[in-house]
Amino acid sequence: SGQAFEVFTLFPEAVAGFLRGGLIGKALTRELVSVHCTDYREFATDRYRTVDDAPYGGGPGMVMKIEPVVAALEHVTRLRGPMHRILLTPAGPRFDQRVAERLAGVPRIGLLCGRYEGIDDRVREHFVDECLSLGDFVLNGGEVAALAIIEAVARLREGVLGNPDSAARDSFSLGDMSQEACSREQGAWLEHPHFTRPPEFRGLGVPDVLLGGDHADVAHWRREQAWRRTWALRPDLRPQRWLAAGAPLYLVA
Ligand code: SAM
Repeated sequence: SGQAFEVFTLFPEAVAGFLRGGLIGKALTRELVSVHCTDYREFATDRYRTVDDAPYGGGPGMVMKIEPVVAALEHVTRLRGPMHRILLTPAGPRFDQRVAERLAGVPRIGLLCGRYEGIDDRVREHFVDECLSLGDFVLNGGEVAALAIIEAVARLREGVLGNPDSAARDSFSLGDMSQEACSREQGAWLEHPHFTRPPEFRGLGVPDVLLGGDHADVAHWRREQAWRRTWALRPDLRPQRWLAAGAPLYLVA
């Protein structure tokens, strides 16, 4: 059955609205994936539905209170069952394609979005299984991070993409070219560039090899482009073993 995401947020409508479109929307309709959004505010107990309070120790900003967050988690767990709980925070390990691949195997995922200065840290310590960050920058809330994770994870699930091969060929994946050119541990790279009709636009052509119709030539060109791009643009991805394994000369130059 499908993979379930539970998003905990103060903006359930915004999250749900975004997910209705595109391939994830289709996957939701086909029940390959499900997403439930839970509003922390419904679990606030005072008459003003307060979810934040001033930080202990003073200073600017507000902190999300622990009680509504834990009440929301426990309610959803009772209702739909236990889940792998992930806190979105800039202090977490960086989310990437390897993490997406791991999470694609997890049947139920809870994503806790913070707002303000973040959630009372006792939640991180005692009520979640892991923390994830989208990158070294600060968002106003965890919602965009949760959406990014849902997209990246769900598109790896069987049936979500129209063509099952395309995920294996995408940038950062370990599929496809790794089988031909390198072994798995040699890492991921950026995908080759793509072109479509027209063959000429304002004098700008497309590489001849793509118009030639020779599949072996095209495959060779694409592999070379992927290597070149990765080498030039993402030195951090350059697998150490490329050279040891005898990288083509155009890469060494
Ligand atoms: N005061 C926090 C700090 O400096 O680390 C930032 C809080 S941020 C304004 C509010 C919420 O946005 C966080 O609780 C988190 O859920 C989310 N958030 C912000 N940046 C993020 C990132 N890079 N990755 C994941 N979530 C992020």
